[in-house]
Amino acid sequence: MTAVNGTGTSTQVGPPLWLLAELTYRCPLQCPYCSNPLDFARSEQELSTEQWFSVLRQGREMGAAQLGFSGGEPLVRSDLPELIAEARHLATTPI
Ligand code: SF4
Repeated sequence: MTAVNGTGTSTQVGPPLWLLAELTYRCPLQCPYCSNPLDFARSEQELSTEQWFSVLRQGREMGAAQLGFSGGEPLVRSDLPELIAEARHLATTPI
């Protein structure tokens, strides 16, 4: 399957079509319906910026055409702007 991105560039897409990146379990936990793990000890096991870059690149190489950042609260990641910039770069670069 071929898709055209926002810059008019054609790219090949295929399963998996969607990559949901759960960047962190950290969160202020204010939502009453929350099912986020309360064991924050694992928060130190989060992937680094470079590791996420690799995951994003691998997802794109496998054909993923959509990306979502989730958590926890992804806004607590200080590198979120870098991750978004890398995702935008990958989305506009032919594979
Ligand atoms: S992890 Fe998600 S659902 Fe839970 S409190 Fe945070 S934002 Fe709300």
